[in-house]
Amino acid sequence: MNRIQLLSPRLSNQIAAGEVVERPASVVKELLENSIDAGSTRVDIDVEQGGVKLIRIRDDGRGVVKEDLALALSRHATSKILELDDLEAVATLGFRGEALASISSVSRLTMSSRHQDSDEGWQVSVEGQDMTPQVKPTAHNVGTTVEVRDLFFNTPARRKFLRKEKTEFGHLEEVVKRIALSRFDVGISLKHNQRIIHSLRPASSEQEKARRVAGVCGPAFIQNSVTVNVEVGELKLWGWVGLPTFSRSQSDLQYFFVNGRVIRDKLVAHAIRQAYRDVLYSGRHPAFVLYLELDPATVDVNVHPTKHEVRFRDSRMVHDFLFRSLHRALAEVTPDDQKPTAS
Ligand code: ADP
Ligand code: MG
Repeated sequence: MNRIQLLSPRLSNQIAAGEVVERPASVVKELLENSIDAGSTRVDIDVEQGGVKLIRIRDDGRGVVKEDLALALSRHATSKILELDDLEAVATLGFRGEALASISSVSRLTMSSRHQDSDEGWQVSVEGQDMTPQVKPTAHNVGTTVEVRDLFFNTPARRKFLRKEKTEFGHLEEVVKRIALSRFDVGISLKHNQRIIHSLRPASSEQEKARRVAGVCGPAFIQNSVTVNVEVGELKLWGWVGLPTFSRSQSDLQYFFVNGRVIRDKLVAHAIRQAYRDVLYSGRHPAFVLYLELDPATVDVNVHPTKHEVRFRDSRMVHDFLFRSLHRALAEVTPDDQKPTAS
């Protein structure tokens, strides 16, 4: 029987990486969220070979000071929460301080940054976190660039689970779309193998937002949807719901955001399904881009590391609010003879 030993930091990071970093798409999600948390107004994403060979994300956010660069790559290092109470109302997308440590333990990672109060840029590089990161000067505008090369180069078992380039890129693009829909104020571009896939300008007016949604979801969605805008007490719901005639054979055009975070939640899905119940043929799936806004203290986002789930304090009330708002919006656009019976 072996004696108990503490895991080395490298091994424990790799184990944690198993949870946070499943594929290139997860890397893009974490890096993009970091850029947004840093207050960026523009983020450029460059990937090669579905992200397996290279993921480079450059932002114009506030940057990292030289002294913090190496620390940013270690586990449980975060500038976003200080005490447990902060968890009650996290305003940032990240807060666990795990992403960079995890990603750098399974890739060749370089982070270059210039802090907004500094005249100089600095860079750290690590390969699978096998060495103490060295900080050296580099030329950089205010903001941060993180470059992740050769994902899973040192964990062949995980590398084997990667799919074809096209599939990996599909997942990665989906992540970018979700964030593009959740942050209209940030300009986002995505290039794959030198080809421009998305180039989305910041949007503030209704018209610009609709154009951006069209850019992400396709023009047909905007042409075949109605806008929703309902506010009851502390709950607000807005966005676009596809007409029943625009239903799809797959649930591939469904975006739901809670206070800016994309989520997939059983309760929410149920409320939407109920609202469409009488107007959709069975087996068809509605298309929607919806935003729910509510007091951050009434929703728990700290349920799972990938943060797709939430827990509402008053789930019954949220469910009813969603159902009623959508049911009414759909009833208004459904011809009389197809109107759902009020129930
Ligand atoms: P978390 O986002 O949970 O804090 P990360 O491992 O993703 O943990 O990042 C660690 C820290 O590195 C962040 O708290 C932040 O201070 C800094 N950081 C990471 N990416 C950026 C970026 N693009 N711009 C500015 N700071 C960043
Ligand atoms: Mg993060």
